[in-house]
Amino acid sequence: MIRAHKIRLHPTPEQANYFARAAGTSRFVWNWALAEWERQYAAGEKPTALKLKKQFNAIRREEFPWTWEVTKNASDQPFLDLGKAFTAFFEGKARRPRFKSKKRSKPSFYLANDQLELKDHHIWIPKLGWVNMAENLRFKGKVAGARITNIVDWWFISITVEVADRLPDPRKAAVGIDVGLNRLATLSTGKGYENQAFLKTALKKLRQANKRLHRRRTGSKNREKARRHVARLHYQIACMRDDVLHKLTTRLANCYGIIGIEDLHLHGLLKNRRLSRSFSDAALGKLLNLLTSKVQQRGGQVMKVGRFFPSSKTCHSCGWKWESMELSDRLFLCQNPTCAYYQLPQDRDHNAGLNILAEALRLIGLIDQVVTGIGSDDDVNLAVDAG
Ligand SMILES: [Zn+2]
Repeated sequence: MIRAHKIRLHPTPEQANYFARAAGTSRFVWNWALAEWERQYAAGEKPTALKLKKQFNAIRREEFPWTWEVTKNASDQPFLDLGKAFTAFFEGKARRPRFKSKKRSKPSFYLANDQLELKDHHIWIPKLGWVNMAENLRFKGKVAGARITNIVDWWFISITVEVADRLPDPRKAAVGIDVGLNRLATLSTGKGYENQAFLKTALKKLRQANKRLHRRRTGSKNREKARRHVARLHYQIACMRDDVLHKLTTRLANCYGIIGIEDLHLHGLLKNRRLSRSFSDAALGKLLNLLTSKVQQRGGQVMKVGRFFPSSKTCHSCGWKWESMELSDRLFLCQNPTCAYYQLPQDRDHNAGLNILAEALRLIGLIDQVVTGIGSDDDVNLAVDAG
């Protein structure tokens, strides 16, 4: 199994300068190779990454001697990346490779495993030396490679490691999750995870910083300062959000083997322009991705329930539907006189979580458990709480 650990770097100003030059070299070579690929393709030739690399090396000493000033990977890897990008594009899995821009693209460069060495909080980089890392590599195993990336004002290294496959026994417990904007996640066990309260404060700061940015004159030094401030805040908010999501999804994946969750219609959600909404939407999408990969890693299964499934409007016990239920109705009241929950207030999201669990189990084909889960006051859920 390949795992990646992203670590913040503490470069000296000279080292940061080297990173910027290496990333610049990488971008230059990528753009050179892409332009050449397009030109040859238009001329009816069949370009390949390997041919382009040879062609580049033939003129390198004459035309681009400065590309030798940094690690050789900075000018080798873009050819391999471009080859892979075109393969993915021809297979219909990715967009056509595009030119990298100095302003919009994230500066980065690759280091192959023979081009780096790790030692107590430090990484050795060719033609540079030892660079301080904020923490040690978390995984034990063979280092496959690394990529150094610039995000706003900071440099990070993401080290990929091949670790031994050791799948823990799959968890048998099942849970349904209702995700939402009011409460981030409500489990069918009744446990709720509140939406990040810090987001409110952080978004207020971000709004102020954005206002300041737009008051500054275009092209001025102060505008650049304000722009960096906004970028830093964006990144910090994303980090806080990711922290919450990682902790929640790891916890869920450790406890449950079968997880039912609503399939969110993200494209529709992302059209909303309000700042807080866009952050929440991004969080929900990320939650789904993280959860799926973590549960699969542990041998479990995430079952997505169709987004038209009426999880909120249906009584989980008898199936009675509250057709006129509004978003503002926080409590579900079943109006079926024969139901065990007749006029008993149920938390809206908890009821939805139970319905999602039942629907997920039905879709997987575990009908028997659905019957026990619902009929006998959720055995499945009770058994799970200990997990
Ligand atoms: Zn009912």
